[in-house]
Amino acid sequence: MNQHRAATEPPGRITIGPGGAALVLHRGGAEIVLPARALRAACRCAGCTAAARRGAPVVAEDGIRLAAAAPIGGYALNLAFSDGHARGVFPFAYLDELAAECGA
Ligand SMILES: [Zn+2]
Repeated sequence: MNQHRAATEPPGRITIGPGGAALVLHRGGAEIVLPARALRAACRCAGCTAAARRGAPVVAEDGIRLAAAAPIGGYALNLAFSDGHARGVFPFAYLDELAAECGA
């Protein structure tokens, strides 16, 4: 585990893949692809968290795309999706976790 850096250090360049199908983390020559559908399902905003707590987690629709990714305060990305959902804040450390789950 990184002890001092991981939580706040931006993980290099981040781009939206062709057509908004995925978020791409560029790490020293490597590319880690996080599918838009997985990111939408992993949203931890208040609304999505409450839905999961009710036992009815948000199910991302097929073909969902990323509409925008905007940095927040140097520690996170605000992601907007093609279904109109734009409240999700994804800390870089959380993106790292998702990348690990995606097998990257
Ligand atoms: Zn959400």
